[in-house]
Amino acid sequence: MNLKERDSLYIANTYKRFPVELQTGKGSLVYDETGKRYIDMGSGIAVTSFGIADEAWIAAVTAQLSRLQHASNLYYTSPCVELAELLCRKTGMKKVFFSNSGAEANECAVKVAREYGRTHLGEEYYTVVTLKGSFHGRTITTLSATGQEHYHEKFRPMTPGFLHTAPGDLAELRSLFRKEKIAAILIECIQGEGGVVPLDPVYAKEAERIAKENGALLMVDEVQTGNGRTGTLYSYEGYGLSPDVVSTAKGLAGGLPMGATLLGEKTESILGYGDHGSTFGGNPVAAAGALSILSRLDDGFLASVEKKGALLREALEGADGIEAVTGRGLMIGLKTVRPAPEVVARAMEKGVLCLTAKDKVRLLPALNIPTELLLEAAGIIREAAAG
Ligand SMILES: *Cc1c(COP(=O)(O)O)cnc(C)c1O
Repeated sequence: MNLKERDSLYIANTYKRFPVELQTGKGSLVYDETGKRYIDMGSGIAVTSFGIADEAWIAAVTAQLSRLQHASNLYYTSPCVELAELLCRKTGMKKVFFSNSGAEANECAVKVAREYGRTHLGEEYYTVVTLKGSFHGRTITTLSATGQEHYHEKFRPMTPGFLHTAPGDLAELRSLFRKEKIAAILIECIQGEGGVVPLDPVYAKEAERIAKENGALLMVDEVQTGNGRTGTLYSYEGYGLSPDVVSTAKGLAGGLPMGATLLGEKTESILGYGDHGSTFGGNPVAAAGALSILSRLDDGFLASVEKKGALLREALEGADGIEAVTGRGLMIGLKTVRPAPEVVARAMEKGVLCLTAKDKVRLLPALNIPTELLLEAAGIIREAAAG
């Protein structure tokens, strides 16, 4: 049996895969089992922040690997402390809880919101308001937070305590705060899985004001938008927001599983001993990988992400078959005339790996993709989208 047949025999049937086996790569190039070269415009869904087999990242990870691969949170280890300190220094947040995925980072945020509501607003203040079209994870609770009904259907009952509101509808948000007992609002500044849809900045600022006026927390899901992806370290900076909780994961450790929940002044002391935990959370190897990524996301580098994002947009805007370009930095969505899956399949045929998000083609290249490869990929995507 070939790999594809063994995969379908032994792997749970939850993923629809493209008919290629990815074997190796370097930077923004990846090769399949036949040796065919692809430009990687997906980065394992915004994960390989500095591309594949990045030398500095490998050095940091392997050095830690041969020192201590895991210790449990019963003991002090240095990489996670260094990483937490760097995250706090760069954001002004106060404390960090480490986990292993975006869903877990959001689970922690929900726990913080519930305990904050209970202790600061009143026993019944546990509701978290999220936005329609959002995506917050696959666990039952983060699925409940996710504002897309079709994800809920098979798995009811959902976790209680979530309300979904239409992004941009301030009247509805105000009315929810009048009628319901709300602990927090949780937003993505740019909905990723929801179709690379940026939140209206005026709505975002006003939603923050309404939440704070009512004593509720502003929580921002930066799982996809974070860690330099949109040209600022976190996308809320571009929106001028001051969140009380920030969750992140995906690109944080450059290809190792790691989630982080950043806690601000109001939330740093909400969880105490025994209130939360994770066996692998803050794992030293993942933390060493994250330190290698995060320490390179300085202002100069972030400016280069912004510049490459502008180049990519410029190369795609107004092209035949491309109706609209959305997103920020190197998180780009394309509304195409051809169905998005067809454009992605045609681009793959021509040697470019892209993603979809709802009805859009989604591009999430490595943050350090060389300009020549970025423009080569853009040319191929134009061809793939053209009528
Ligand atoms: C991917 C994603 C998640 C879930 O992350 P996992 O690591 O798959 O659990 C949550 N929120 C957003 C915005 C995401 O893009």
